[in-house]
Amino acid sequence: MKVPGRHTAELITIGDELLKGSVLNSNAKFLGRELTELGFDVKAQGSCPDEVEEICERIATAISRSDLVIMSGGLGPTPDDVTRDGVAEFFQVPLVLSKTQYNQITKYYAKRHKVVPELVRREALFPDNAVPLVNRHGIALGFYIVCGSRMIVVLPGVPRELEKMFAHRVKPLALRHFRRVKPKVPFVAKFVGISEPEIMQKLGKGFFREKFEFGIYPHVGEVSIRIYAPRRATVARLKAMVRRRLGSSVYAYEDIKFPEAVGKLLTKSRKTLSAAESCSGGLLSSEITKVSGASKYFKGSIVSYTNAVKEDLLGVSPADLRRYGAVSDDVALQMAEGVRRKLKTTYGIAITGVAGPDGGTRKKPVGLVYIALANGKRSRVWQHEFWGDRHQVQQKASMKALEYLWRQLRRDA
Ligand code: ATP
Ligand code: MG
Repeated sequence: MKVPGRHTAELITIGDELLKGSVLNSNAKFLGRELTELGFDVKAQGSCPDEVEEICERIATAISRSDLVIMSGGLGPTPDDVTRDGVAEFFQVPLVLSKTQYNQITKYYAKRHKVVPELVRREALFPDNAVPLVNRHGIALGFYIVCGSRMIVVLPGVPRELEKMFAHRVKPLALRHFRRVKPKVPFVAKFVGISEPEIMQKLGKGFFREKFEFGIYPHVGEVSIRIYAPRRATVARLKAMVRRRLGSSVYAYEDIKFPEAVGKLLTKSRKTLSAAESCSGGLLSSEITKVSGASKYFKGSIVSYTNAVKEDLLGVSPADLRRYGAVSDDVALQMAEGVRRKLKTTYGIAITGVAGPDGGTRKKPVGLVYIALANGKRSRVWQHEFWGDRHQVQQKASMKALEYLWRQLRRDA
């Protein structure tokens, strides 16, 4: 249902690869979120094969019901990319050349000491009734067509190019054309160590007194809430309420991932970290090093998958390994202390457990994981039984380890 006074938007992402599942449709995710924040009601979204006839049908449906239609993909140089042909066919207009885009293409090739292949000229074509949107980040020209009060925008499929063009060209264009769109005020809070129901319970009924859009999303080891409100004042009040009721579980009020939040704390306090990983096989280190700038605080890790490595590189006692087994609180503690000593860091963190699906016993079932944290003064160890397949156990253990470090960092701050 169309809400009076509000504008609707619709997405058509084009490409056989999207339908066949060879490429994840990240453009739909990006555009959906951006258009929502801009103040549009995104009402429909669909992928379409690289076929002229199909493209025409989709445009007909979309333009009959949505104020703003955004299409992406299928603007490549090869004959299988037919989006521009589809649009021209729908409006029964010829394709014409954008000299500006063609110059851009020529420069692009000249820089690489190549001549422009004949096929690539196609990338500078646009339907005669459209206005070109020059692509400064690639070679495929975008364009838009005004249809009365409505508008169709066509963008290249390469996510980086689409994102830049959306930010620099489409956003201002849409705000000019659709006078009534009012950008919404977004609010994000990201939580660790607390479940969805607990969050909802702590927020309570009072939180939802006013009208705003609310979403709550669980991920491995964390939960995020995303709100769109009509006014800044509403967001300020909601944020104050989240702080008061759930502040100790919030790791960020912005769109960052947990390892980045932990990295910020480490950087700020000038502390360093090392890891000893057994059942997580390096996943924790991988998560930590996905953050740019991690070299400031992360010195390295020892993936101590066998007992020999635990003994030789981490100094775990062979007698304890025999007595308690590799999956035990004693060994986890010695791993954390060992790696901290060896790599000379403020903190040493260790994970040892049974990731499964094989190797579980009655006493040590699949999912049993010990996580230890050493800081030179006091070492601590926690026991968990994680549920899930091998990868989930590894992911949950890595997230939990980061969570313990995060709590310790806040205490040590
Ligand atoms: P190329 O010239 O690289 O073969 P193409 O000619 O198919 O690309 P597009 O259809 O615009 O031109 O796609 C460009 C690239 O962007 C392709 O790698 C495609 O898989 C990717 N792509 C297209 N649409 C999407 C989308 N909705 N989400 C994520 N990636 C996409
Ligand atoms: Mg394509």
